[in-house]
Amino acid sequence: MAPRKLAAGNWKMNGDLASLAEIDALIAAHPAPSCEVLVCPPAVLLHPMKERAGGARVALGGQDCHADLAGAHTGDISAVQLKDAGASHVILGHSERRADHGETDAVVAAKAAAAHAAGLIAIICVGETETQRDADQTLAVIASQLDGSIPEGATAANTVIAYEPVWAIGTGRTPTLDQIAEVHALMRERLGGRIGDAAQVRLLYGGSVKPGNAAQIFALSDVDGALVGGASLKAADFGAIIAAL
Ligand code: PEP
Repeated sequence: MAPRKLAAGNWKMNGDLASLAEIDALIAAHPAPSCEVLVCPPAVLLHPMKERAGGARVALGGQDCHADLAGAHTGDISAVQLKDAGASHVILGHSERRADHGETDAVVAAKAAAAHAAGLIAIICVGETETQRDADQTLAVIASQLDGSIPEGATAANTVIAYEPVWAIGTGRTPTLDQIAEVHALMRERLGGRIGDAAQVRLLYGGSVKPGNAAQIFALSDVDGALVGGASLKAADFGAIIAAL
C-alpha cells in the first residue's frame, strides 16, 4: 500500500507568535485533511504552536538539530529538545543549511542518526544546483547525496526524503514533471539498496510548490507529498496545497 501523503511546511526564519493564527485558520479550513500535515516553524515557536488548538492537531517539526543529543554547543538545539518542545519530525540537510553552514552529507547523516535516537522522523533533503543540472549531473548528485546522508538504521518509519532542486527553492521555477519523475524514480531505486522497506519511504518534492502547480506534481508516481517553503506561511495557500494532495 502506498504511504499516506505528507504536506510539510518549512517556515524557515519567518514568523512570530502572531503567525500562529495561520495554523488555527488552516485547521479551521481543513479539519480533516486526507494527507498528513506537518509544520516546521522556527524552534522558538514549537512549544507555543503545540499549545494552541490548531498546533495540537498538526504535526510539528524542527528545521535542524545537532548531531549530539546534549552538551556544550552554544546556540545549537538537540533532537531531544525538539521532541520535548512538541516536534515529531526534523528537516535535515536543507540546501540553505548545506550552503550557509557548510553541512556535508556526513554531517547530515550524523544529525539524522541523532534525530532517530531521539525518536524523531528525519526529513533528509537532497538536490542539485543549477550548474549541476546544466552539466547533466543531477542523477549522480542525488545518488551521491542519498548514499552519504542516510544513516544506518533508517527505515520508512523514521525517514522521509525530500528532493529539492536548489535552483527551484524560492525562485518560482520548477523542474518539468518528467524531470521530477526521473529523480523520484532514481531515489526509490537507490533507497532499495539501503532500506528494507524502501517502497514505503515517503519521497517529497520541494521547490516553488504553489496552489497552481501542486496537483500536477502530486499526481506523479513516487511523489508522496511536498516540502513547501514560502507557500506554507499563509493558511490559504498551504490549505490549497493540502487540498491538492
Ligand atoms: C524550501 O525551502 O524547502 C522550499 C521548498 O521553499 P519554496 O517552497 O519557497 O521554494
